[in-house]
Amino acid sequence: MALRFYNTLTQQVEVFQPLQGNTVRMYTCGPTVYNFAHIGNLRTFTFEDILRRWLLYRGYKMDHVMNITDVDDKIIRNAAAEHKSLAEYTAKYTEAFLEDSAALRLQPPEKMVKATQHIPEMVAAIEKLSERGFTYVSDGSVYYRISKFPEYGKLSHNDFTGIRAGARVDVDEYDKANARDFVLWKAPKDGEVFWESEIGPGRPGWHIECSAMAMKYLGETLDIHAGGVDLIFPHHENEIAQSEAITSKPFARFWLHSEFLNVESHKMSKSAGNFYTLRDLQAEGYQAEVVRYLLASVPYRKKLNFTIDGLKSAAVAIDRLRNFKLRLETDKYPEGLNEKLLERTHAAVRQFEESLDDDLNTAEALAALFEFVRDANTAMDASEFRAGNRAPALDLLERFDRVFDVLRPTQAAGGLSDARVEELIQERAAAKRSRNFARSDQIREELLDAGIILEDTKEGTRWKRK
Ligand SMILES: [Zn+2]
Repeated sequence: MALRFYNTLTQQVEVFQPLQGNTVRMYTCGPTVYNFAHIGNLRTFTFEDILRRWLLYRGYKMDHVMNITDVDDKIIRNAAAEHKSLAEYTAKYTEAFLEDSAALRLQPPEKMVKATQHIPEMVAAIEKLSERGFTYVSDGSVYYRISKFPEYGKLSHNDFTGIRAGARVDVDEYDKANARDFVLWKAPKDGEVFWESEIGPGRPGWHIECSAMAMKYLGETLDIHAGGVDLIFPHHENEIAQSEAITSKPFARFWLHSEFLNVESHKMSKSAGNFYTLRDLQAEGYQAEVVRYLLASVPYRKKLNFTIDGLKSAAVAIDRLRNFKLRLETDKYPEGLNEKLLERTHAAVRQFEESLDDDLNTAEALAALFEFVRDANTAMDASEFRAGNRAPALDLLERFDRVFDVLRPTQAAGGLSDARVEELIQERAAAKRSRNFARSDQIREELLDAGIILEDTKEGTRWKRK
C-alpha cells in the first residue's frame, strides 16, 4: 500500500505524492514566542518531526518551512509590561524553543523564518487582496471581507453563510461562534509597536504572516500544511481565504492536524496545576527522549492522555530496546542463520513500514518492533539466535531509530565521555587481575555515580548509561 494521510480538507485518507518531482514542500506553524512551549505544543512539533522523518525515510527530499511568530497581541502586551523591545522579549523564548527542539531531537526545518523579518511581504499580500476587492479599512485597520470568499469554512467544515456582513474581529484568536471579518493589518493603539507601510502605520495580523511567508518560500500551492487541531479555525481557515483569494489556486493539497493532549485525563491548564513544559519534566528527572517517545507513541489523530505512569512506561520501553541492542552488539552467537527468525525480522520491517505508511500509525509500528524484540530475546535465551541474524536485527533497529530517534541516551551535562568510560573499565580489569578488589569496586562505584552501569559477562565487561 502506498503512503497515505488523512486530509482535514477532504475528510478522507488520501494517497500522498508531492506535486513536483521528489521534493515535499511543507509548511508548519511554529511557536508564538511569548512563553515556554508546553507539552501540548510539543506534541504537535513531535508529530511534525515524525512526519518529516517518515517522508525522508520514504525517499523524498524535504523543503520544510516553519515560522516563528514574534509579534502578536500577547507578545506586544508582555513586552510592554517588562519594558522590553519585541526583539529583546522574544529572543529568550525563541532560544528556549530551539533548546527544547534540540533536546526532543526535532530535526530543524530547512528554513525557520521570523514574522518580523517579513513585514514587506505581508504588506504586499494585503495590497494584492485590496486590489482584488477582498479588504476594507475601518479605523485605520485593514480587514478581510469573508463574504467575498464563498468557500470560507471549507477546511473547518463550518457553514458560515449566515454570518452578518461587515461584523469584524480584530483579535488573532477567536472561536467559530465569533467568525467575523478578520484583521489583516492592525492600526497601532497608543504606545504600541508599529511599522510604517504603504497601507499606513500598523502591524500584521497573525494569519497573514503564515500566508505571506509560506508562499514566499514554498510557492502558491504547498504539498502539506500541518499544525495542531486548535489551528484549523480560525488560523488555517483564514490562511486559505487569504492565499486563495490572492492566487486563485489551492493553497495546500494536504492539511494534517494533530489532536489535543490531556494530562492525567484532564485538560491541561495552569490553574489545574497539571501544566508541563519540557523543562518541568527534565527537572523531575525525565530525559527528553522519554518525553519524545511518549508523545510519538500515540497516533497523531488520537487524543493523547499524558500521564506520569505513561512517562515511566516510555522509559522502560526505551530501556528494553537499548538492552536488546546492547545484547545484539556484544553477545557471541554461534555461526549460521536462523531462517525462521530472519523471516520474522523481514516481516517486522514490513509491518513497521506499512503502519507508518498508514497515516503514521506509530502505535502499530511500535507493536511490530516489540513483537520482534520479544521473539528475538526468546530465541537468544533458547540459544537459537545465530550470528547471521545479528545484522538484520540491527538493521530493523536502525530503521526504527531513524524515525523515533530514542536509542541514543542524552549525555548528562558534565558526564563522562565514552572514551573515559572505556579507560576506567580497562583500569578496573587491570585492578582485578592484580587482585586489587578495593580499587576495582571503587571504579564500579565511581562509574555508577556518573550514571554508568557495568555488566560483567563471559565476553568481558559491557556498559550502558542509566
Ligand atoms: Zn500559521
